[in-house]
Amino acid sequence: MNDRLLKTLKGITNGHARASQADLLAYSYDGTPGFQAMPDAVVSPGSAEEVSEIVRFCRSEGIPIVPRGSGTNLSAGTTPTAGGVVLLFNRMNQILEIDEENLTVTVQPGVITKDLIDAVEMRGLFYPPDPSSMKISTIGGNISENSGGLRGLKYGVTKDYVLGLEAVMPDGSVIKTGGKLAKDVAGYDLTKLLTGAEGTLGVITEATLKLIPMPSSKKTMLAQFAAMDQAAEAVSAIIANRIIPATLEFMDRATIRAVEDFAKVGLPLEAEAILLIEQDGAEAAVNDEMQLMKEICEKQGAFSVELAKTAEEANNLMTARRSALSALARLKPTTILEDATVPRSKVAEMVEAITKIAVKHQVTICTFGHAGDGNLHPTCITDARITEEMHRVEAAFEEIFKEAIRLGGTITGEHGVGEMKAPYLEWKLGASGINVMKLIKQSLDPDNIMNPNKIFGKSEKKRVVVGK
Ligand SMILES: Cc1cc2nc3c(=O)[nH]c(=O)nc-3n(C[C@H](O)[C@H](O)[C@H](O)COP(=O)(O)OP(=O)(O)OC[C@H]3O[C@@H](n4cnc5c(N)ncnc54)[C@H](O)[C@@H]3O)c2cc1C
Repeated sequence: MNDRLLKTLKGITNGHARASQADLLAYSYDGTPGFQAMPDAVVSPGSAEEVSEIVRFCRSEGIPIVPRGSGTNLSAGTTPTAGGVVLLFNRMNQILEIDEENLTVTVQPGVITKDLIDAVEMRGLFYPPDPSSMKISTIGGNISENSGGLRGLKYGVTKDYVLGLEAVMPDGSVIKTGGKLAKDVAGYDLTKLLTGAEGTLGVITEATLKLIPMPSSKKTMLAQFAAMDQAAEAVSAIIANRIIPATLEFMDRATIRAVEDFAKVGLPLEAEAILLIEQDGAEAAVNDEMQLMKEICEKQGAFSVELAKTAEEANNLMTARRSALSALARLKPTTILEDATVPRSKVAEMVEAITKIAVKHQVTICTFGHAGDGNLHPTCITDARITEEMHRVEAAFEEIFKEAIRLGGTITGEHGVGEMKAPYLEWKLGASGINVMKLIKQSLDPDNIMNPNKIFGKSEKKRVVVGK
């Protein structure tokens, strides 16, 4: 970036623009292994007005803009593939208002998810979306990926809590969508359009989110199985028995071992699979449903089903589950986590298919995830430096995506398409589905400056390129 451009960006942001080699390198990649591209500048605006000025300036100069929260996305959603400006929200990280009458919270995009959850909890309120990355991810990133989490089964995902947005559009105009209203059908639902748009349609500068009352009680249970299919069948049986637990998480043997080695919370090393089950609500109902789920798990072959005895024990179990990716990442140089998703009733079939595909391609795939949502995270531990192995990894994931689609599922349940899964999007949507999305993108962002090459990117398979 030449001096004139950098000077203009500094002028707009009161000096908060930089372009040292260290800065550019630090923002050239995100949480996705194997994807990297250098930006030209890193800019931290302090307000929607500054964002608007930056967008107008970049558009006039043809400079791409990549909005970035904490970069924890796992789909190469923030790689600056065409260079340009990485937009950070570290100066826009305030909780602006908790409205206890309307049960809403209004925040800037840079607020860390867990900080928001903790702040409303202190008022007896509950913001359910809880990606495992919640201690680092931002609300802007959560909204733009429409993130899920461990409570998705009962409480839904981020989109179910976004009531209104303020956003800077690719022409620099500032729009407000929705608001504190429980009902609002005035025109197209632009709130939903921007939610999950992966930063390709505009920059979110403020969000009003729905809160609900904090459930009065919560219980956590660990069920251990000697066979993976028993655990998967238990998931289907719980739902079929009309119980919707707050959390219904699954881990296979390899994940259990890695997590226990990392978190040391006493996970059972002898189990082939575990289910981590949580229910919340009125105490009597929670007790009844936990008892029923215990019986269902035992009927499906669980050799042990134990309730957590203390809140600390329950918390440790959930923290252990949230650390699955970090634990697996210690095993080999490269960890590739995917999120193929199937209808809940197909979890058992999908888990079996993943196992067979891993054996066929001779790759190591550990599986865990939000089993109650059918959202599995087959995670390959590998080494990107070995090209031949990376070809096998890519082939295995291709088969996993195809199998998920065959079972009525999708290529991504919560991590988004980004740059990484763009080659596979057509498998899910077909050419006409992609065409409708492209028409929306082209009409809102004709110069393609907002996070280019994401969702409908070039169709090269970077994971293999990295191994070269
Ligand atoms: C250990 C780990 C566990 C995870 N667990 C989960 C999980 O349980 N559930 C889940 O859904 N995901 C999970 N993720 C993925 C990731 O954390 C989520 O996608 C998260 O929402 C990304 O937030 P972020 O702030 O890091 O956003 P980033 O990664 O920085 O950005 C994500 C996307 O949002 C866009 N964006 C960011 N801010 C804005 C803005 N203000 N305006 C417009 N666009 C913007 C970016 O351009 C990009 O497309 C996990 C990741 C890790 C590393």
